[in-house]
Amino acid sequence: MPLLEIAAEFGVSETVPIVWVRRYFPDKDEQDHVASLGFDAVYEATMKRVSKDRKAKRATEQQRIDTNRDQPRPPRPVDSWLPGPGPVKDIDALPDDVAALKQLLVQQRERDAVKDAIIEVLMGGGDTPGKDDVRDGVLTTAAKAAVVGALTEVHGFSIARACALIGIATSTFYYHRGKHAVTVQDRARRRDELKVLILQAVEQSRRSYGYRRIHAWLQAMGHTVSEKIVRNLMAELGCRPPAKQSTKYSSYTGETDHTPQNLLLITPTRNSNSNGNGAEGDAEGGVDGGGMPQVALSQYFTEHAAAQGLTHDFHADAPWEKIGTDVTEIHCADGKLFLSAAIDFYDGMPIAVTMSTSPDHDLVAEMIARIDECKPEGVTPIIHSDRGGLYRSPRWVSMITHHAHDNLACSVCQQELFCPSRWRYIPSLSRKGNSGDNARVEGFFGTMKQEILHGRPEVKTMTVAQMRDYIDSYIDFYINTRLKSTLGEGYTTIAEHRKALSA
Ligand SMILES: [Zn+2]
Repeated sequence: MPLLEIAAEFGVSETVPIVWVRRYFPDKDEQDHVASLGFDAVYEATMKRVSKDRKAKRATEQQRIDTNRDQPRPPRPVDSWLPGPGPVKDIDALPDDVAALKQLLVQQRERDAVKDAIIEVLMGGGDTPGKDDVRDGVLTTAAKAAVVGALTEVHGFSIARACALIGIATSTFYYHRGKHAVTVQDRARRRDELKVLILQAVEQSRRSYGYRRIHAWLQAMGHTVSEKIVRNLMAELGCRPPAKQSTKYSSYTGETDHTPQNLLLITPTRNSNSNGNGAEGDAEGGVDGGGMPQVALSQYFTEHAAAQGLTHDFHADAPWEKIGTDVTEIHCADGKLFLSAAIDFYDGMPIAVTMSTSPDHDLVAEMIARIDECKPEGVTPIIHSDRGGLYRSPRWVSMITHHAHDNLACSVCQQELFCPSRWRYIPSLSRKGNSGDNARVEGFFGTMKQEILHGRPEVKTMTVAQMRDYIDSYIDFYINTRLKSTLGEGYTTIAEHRKALSA
C-alpha cells in the first residue's frame, strides 16, 4: 500500500508513515515482507509492535522509579557549608582550656553568621545571585559566592575570611560577582526592551488590555516572558488599563446659566414641613433656580420613603407627571451610536428613544418632538436629567418652553419666579456628579444593555445601522411584550397596563 494513501487514511502528514516504518520495521528485509502484505495484516503487525514498544517504555520508567526509591535521599548539602564542629551536645565534654573554649565560641558565631547569610540569600530579591541554587540545596560555586557576598556585605566579614569559611577561592568569588553584574545588566536591558513592546501593545489596544492579554500579545510576537514580569513592568510603566467603569455617556461640557434645581430630591427637613409636600433643590441653583414649582410627593414616596430611606421621588401617581431623560452610547463595529431616551416615571414607559451617531442637540430635539407627538393637551411634565451641557444650553431651554410666551415682557418671568405660561416641560437637574440622581433612566439603559448587549458576541460586529434596528425592535418588545412585575398586580406589559388605565 502506498505510503501517501496511508497518510491520507490516518489523516497525518505524508512524512509520518515513513517515520512509522523506520521506527517499527527498522530491518530492510522486514520492510519488504510487510510491503507484500495486505492493509489489515500490516495494521495488525504494526499495532503489535506499537504495543510492545509502549510496554518496554513503561517498564524502563518503572525501573527508574524503583531504583531511586531504594536509594537514601542525599543530605542537604547546605548543612555541610557550615563551619566548625557544630553544637556541643555534652557540656562536660567542653575543653577546660579557656583559649580552646573561646575558639569554639568563635566557630559557633561563624556558623550562625553563615546560617544568617544563607537565609539572606534566600530572602533576597529577584536579582540575588545564586538564590535558586541555595534554595535547591545545590552546592555550586555560584551559590557559595552568593553566601560569601552576604557575609561580607551584611556581617562585615572580609572577603578573604568569608571565602575561607565557605571554602572557595577568592578568585572564584570575584569571578561570580563579575558574572552576576553582567547578568543584572542583561536583565535590565531585557526589561527595557520589553517595556517598549508593552507600551506598543498598550497603544494598539487603546489601553484596554490588562497584563494577561499583553502577555498573550507578547507571546504571539514570539517573546518568551512570564506573566508576572509583564505585570511588574506594566506597574512600573504605570500603564494599567483604566478600571472598569460605567458605560454611561457623559455630556458635561460647557456651563450655562440655565441651572434649575433638582425637583425630585427630597430633603428630610422639607419633607417634615407642615404642608407635607414640596421639593428642595440643591444649593447649586442658578438664575433659573429660584422660581421652580413645588412638586407634590407621589403616593409611593409618601408610603415608602421612611422605610426605604428614599431621597428622590422617582415615582409618579399618573402618566405624564414626571419624565426622565439621559443619553448613553453603544459601541458598534463602524462607530458609536448614541441613544437619547425619555422614560415616564409612572410605569417606566420609554416614551421616546432617538438615536444618532453624535450626541448633539438634534438628538434631544428629535426626542422632544416625539414626546410632543404623544403628549396629551394641557399637561406640563417635569423633565428630569443630569447636569450635562445638553440640558443646560439655551437650545434645550428653547425646546421645552413656549415660544409664543415673551418672557422678557412677562413680569413673572422677569422676577425669575416659576412661570407656568413659559414652560412646556419643567426642567429638573440632578446634582453635580450625582449619577444616582437619575436612576430611572440609567436603570432603563442598564436593563437594555443587560438584556440585549452584554455577553452577546454577535452584537460586537453590528454596524450602527444594524444596531439601530436591533434597538428599535427591543424597545417595541420592551413596551408591548416584555412582562414587568412592578406594574400593579402580577406580571403585565407596559402597553397592557396603560390600556387598562385609559379604559
Ligand atoms: Zn412668564
